[in-house]
Amino acid sequence: MSGTETEVTLSRDVRAALKHGLRCKCPNCGEGAVFKGYLKVRSACSVCGLDFTPQRADDGPAYIVILVVGHLVGFALPVISERMRDDPLMVAILLSVVSVLLSLLMLPPVKAMFVGFQWAKGMHGFGQASPAPVSQETRCAEGC
Ligand SMILES: [Zn+2]
Repeated sequence: MSGTETEVTLSRDVRAALKHGLRCKCPNCGEGAVFKGYLKVRSACSVCGLDFTPQRADDGPAYIVILVVGHLVGFALPVISERMRDDPLMVAILLSVVSVLLSLLMLPPVKAMFVGFQWAKGMHGFGQASPAPVSQETRCAEGC
């Protein structure tokens, strides 16, 4: 660590950050949205102003989603194949559609949980002090 950086003791709740991430909300305040599209992370929280630019989720969320969906579909394959023995094409179509839908549903919350975990652990640039949560009165004064 260079001499210009200040070390801040982090007392961030990892569990709360992961819960907020599951709802795709800011890990600091739990109210602002993490994404401005499907998976594009905002530059900052619109409620508390937390800077999201230090996040480095990269391919991590995709690996987790592939791991979970692959296991679910992999364990379902023999059961469904046995029940639909006469129609292997339908088995392939059904499991493909389930895989794609599950992956698309899981990716945003898993990515937001990655961002929340990085923030809670002070990884990358999240090690600096967080902005204080914005009160409801301040928010309404700026236009709710
Ligand atoms: Zn926030």
